[in-house]
Amino acid sequence: MFDSLADRLGSVFEKLRGRGALTELDVRAAMREVRIALLEADVALPVVKDFVEQATERAIGAEVIRSVTPGQQVVKIVNDCLVELLGSEHEGLNIPATPPAVLMMVGLQGSGKTTSTAKLAKFLTERQGKKVLMASLDVARPAAQEQLRVLGEQTGVATLPIIAGQSPVTIAERARQSAKLQGFDVVLLDTAGRLSVDAALMAEMAQIANATQPHEILLVVDALTGQDAVSTATLFKAEVPLTGVILTRMDGDARGGAALSMRAITGKPIKFAGTGEKLDALEAFDPQRVAGRILG
Ligand code: GDP
Repeated sequence: MFDSLADRLGSVFEKLRGRGALTELDVRAAMREVRIALLEADVALPVVKDFVEQATERAIGAEVIRSVTPGQQVVKIVNDCLVELLGSEHEGLNIPATPPAVLMMVGLQGSGKTTSTAKLAKFLTERQGKKVLMASLDVARPAAQEQLRVLGEQTGVATLPIIAGQSPVTIAERARQSAKLQGFDVVLLDTAGRLSVDAALMAEMAQIANATQPHEILLVVDALTGQDAVSTATLFKAEVPLTGVILTRMDGDARGGAALSMRAITGKPIKFAGTGEKLDALEAFDPQRVAGRILG
């Protein structure tokens, strides 16, 4: 992940660092290369435009060019802009004081939604001492409910007993009621996915969100899908009030476009990153650390 972007930016900065003095033209030339590097990493075009504009504006500030180490200053500015693009600081989950917190997972089929639900349940249980209940609202694929039940067994996290024939909204309400009665802190609702965005999926998702008023609606997207992840996010954002993103397959060789575009496109932070198939492969997303991986 990020390897070729890191290489590209590394060579742009190598040239800058070696220079004593910099002119505005030098800075603009370097920023053009940064632009190309970001586009090649599959970062969404409007995001690249804003990024380069901001970084250029800051970098041609008189103090920077006239400073003793202008090259290093420019590198620092790009680093700061990258951290801001990624969200500045890790943002945790909104867990209200009065339980149960209701967290709804949305995303396309295959994005890693069900796996991320189980990973998040395990994370909240083991790292934060929460009592978690998971429920699958995917009534279109009976195998999906069974998959979550099995994951619950593997992680030792409770799952809502399956009752055939119930609607997603009814299951969600039953989950919340059970959580209240049985003293669960968090309810994780794993909603249905489709292979691509369709009207039925969107309508069902909006209906569940309206009925349950979740504290978090987390969009699960696959980092490997690049620009597709960006268009998926745009469509989901138009339907439900997303509160955050979980980016999966960060262990793969994604170019980084989805990771770098997601916050700007959704206006919401990436809260967690999936880093493998195992159920403990979930990390709190840390913008500083990720920017560090890109800039070395
Ligand atoms: P869903 O259809 O969105 O619920 O997707 P699943 O949760 O069933 O995941 C689809 C596949 O992706 C499974 O084989 C998962 O093990 C795998 N997967 C999920 N998250 C990650 C991740 O962060 N890294 C890797 N390498 N694989 C993942």
